[in-house]
Amino acid sequence: MLAELQQIVQCVNAAANLHEALEIIVHRVRAAMDTDVCSVYVRDPEAPQYVLMATEGLNPSSVGKVRMAAGEGIVGWVATRQEPVNLANAAEHPSYRYFPETGEQQFAGFLAVPLVHFRHSMGVLVVQQETQRVFAKDEVAFLVTIGAQLAATLSYAALGSAIPRREPGPSGPIGLIQGLPGAPGVTIGNIVLPSPLAELDAVADRAPDDAAQEEASFRGAVRETQQELRASADRMDGHLSDETRSIFDVYILILGQEELVEDVVARIRGGNWAPGALRDTIAEHAKVFEEADDSYLRARAEDIRAIGRRVLLRLLSDVTAVKQYPSKAVLLGDEVSLARVADVPPGQLKGIVCLRGSVVSHTAVLARGLGIPAVMGLGRRNVTALDGHPIIVDGYRGRVFIDPLPAVIQEYRRLVQHEGQLSAKLASLRDLEATTTDHVDVGLGLNVGLLTDIDVAANLSVDEVGLYRSEFPFMTRETFPMEEEQYVIYRKVLQAFAPKPVTMRTLDIGGDKPLSYFPTTEENPFLGWRGIRLTLDRPDIFLPQLRAMLRANIGLNNLRILFPMIGQVDEVKAALQAVDRARRELGEEGYECPAPSIGAMVEVPSTLFSIPALSRYVDFFSIGTNDLTQYLLAVDRNSPNVARLYNHLDPAVIRALHGVIRDARRCGKPVSVCGEMAADPGSAILLLGMGLGTFSMSASAVLRIKWVIRSFSSQRAKQVLYRAMRMESAETVRNMLDDELGRAGLGELVLA
Ligand code: PEP
Ligand code: MG
Repeated sequence: MLAELQQIVQCVNAAANLHEALEIIVHRVRAAMDTDVCSVYVRDPEAPQYVLMATEGLNPSSVGKVRMAAGEGIVGWVATRQEPVNLANAAEHPSYRYFPETGEQQFAGFLAVPLVHFRHSMGVLVVQQETQRVFAKDEVAFLVTIGAQLAATLSYAALGSAIPRREPGPSGPIGLIQGLPGAPGVTIGNIVLPSPLAELDAVADRAPDDAAQEEASFRGAVRETQQELRASADRMDGHLSDETRSIFDVYILILGQEELVEDVVARIRGGNWAPGALRDTIAEHAKVFEEADDSYLRARAEDIRAIGRRVLLRLLSDVTAVKQYPSKAVLLGDEVSLARVADVPPGQLKGIVCLRGSVVSHTAVLARGLGIPAVMGLGRRNVTALDGHPIIVDGYRGRVFIDPLPAVIQEYRRLVQHEGQLSAKLASLRDLEATTTDHVDVGLGLNVGLLTDIDVAANLSVDEVGLYRSEFPFMTRETFPMEEEQYVIYRKVLQAFAPKPVTMRTLDIGGDKPLSYFPTTEENPFLGWRGIRLTLDRPDIFLPQLRAMLRANIGLNNLRILFPMIGQVDEVKAALQAVDRARRELGEEGYECPAPSIGAMVEVPSTLFSIPALSRYVDFFSIGTNDLTQYLLAVDRNSPNVARLYNHLDPAVIRALHGVIRDARRCGKPVSVCGEMAADPGSAILLLGMGLGTFSMSASAVLRIKWVIRSFSSQRAKQVLYRAMRMESAETVRNMLDDELGRAGLGELVLA
């Protein structure tokens, strides 16, 4: 039976759509269990009701028509109780309800299992038999096991899309899909899928009518593709940093390779038309890289094929047609590349949705830099038919609505309008102090990563850069940036904010921030080789970075260096030695570098109990609530499976933060929070109550947090904090904070 089970699950996973998956289930399960009937009922979230969606054995015309509310009929009863039922004669069950259109009166034996996903009933799987009999234990176990596997699979399909509406719309709403927040904001727009790229492998050989003409059109296609790439890069100018632009340069460079062009030309002269000659040349060049041991080099093979497809598109007849973008474009894809973002005309890109990734993905950071909402990690699903479909992107809650119902659109229109009004209102706070009503001054800092963030920051009055994530220049490249390249970037950042302090965090890769050109394989990367652990082991990476930072600081003297993932005092000591060594060596080379302030991130739980010891070595602390929450609660910050458990308002997290801030203050060390918690208006009340010195966050949150600070007294915030610390769950804390915001006249922040 196990083999049968695996086969069924595999077939369902390979199904093209939900309808096909359900047909496979009923067909295969009925055959495997040798029953007279197998049916699947799926929950219609709009109703909510359980709808017969596929059957073998019942009257097929009843599909889509038989509906049962929760608790209604045996199916509704199973869905509510979330337990299987095994009946010798269904008609004798008190919940039995007869639907004449199904023709099920002749069936007696009835076995049903609920399809439960994350505590929610997604549907019910039923088998029936003409004879009166109770199903055997192993049959029940089989159906339960199938049900458990299928519940997860079904949850990935957009369930609502397949359910016939009683008043069908043009295509039927797909409804809500829950993902992970990537960048804040809400938008209503239309989906743009990646352009279908010409497939090189589908090109057939053909003798050219005129070889010279063929060669000319190939060279023309190469030129046009280069121009197209350059235009894309230029369009992004001012929106993107130099380092991200370099990706386009790599593509342009590959296309400019004499060898690649000449190989195609030689094949044309040898008797093939341009597309055929291109196909063979690209295959040959890509193969060289494909066979490399190094994963970085293997990845270059995909670059070459991607460029080959672009040139082929140009060569084929209708290629000059320029893609038309809707006025409110929402890019949707597995991952949304920088090149796709750059292709959208300025002002028309309104949202980004990725099936993979999380808030720390490169794309999410890009979206935050551009100030547009993003939702990440929707999970594997078939989206090929969705080009142009209306979509709502809710970057706050990490959810999207595809083909939303009019009532949902109306609700979100209200939210978008509200956002606009709120921004206008908040703009008046720009030049006001971040001071509580009882005159306590609070520091506001910015979190930045890409150079583009600097432009946004220019319009904000903040006191400092609380966190410069130095891994981003590393993540947007194809190889490790050299000291000189890093120097140029760091200098720009320090100069842009001088004389305000800039806290540069040393490289924090590993865990969820891998570098394509520096792959590390670990069973448990979050507990593995990341942050300071990695850089201390790799002086060849660490020292050039420290040198670049120290040199960039000459004459400006606004650099602070922050070490990520500190877990032990020894790590701080070793990192300090590295800074000393870099300064000494630079001194010997004639660079007189001022000594920067040094800080440690508080994000590994061991540091919660080591603040006095660490204080002997560092000048300040910065609390990374994103990682601290994940480590304290043992909840992966990027896993959709446990997303509901990840919450920085968990009373345990609040108590931990209270202790750290208290200890740091006692040791006379300034402390800031640079995790997402500092950008959450409700949490800001608690942090105020703890006496936090500096809140550091992305640009979009600054004015909201300033509004909170200006609306509370430190005394009131303290009372709220003490109440929160006595609570038992994150949910009760959140409700209390929402009430507090409302009472202080800041209810609009709760809505947003
Ligand atoms: C954090 O962990 O809270 C933090 C600020 O760092 P990152 O999100 O980059 O890990
Ligand atoms: Mg962190």
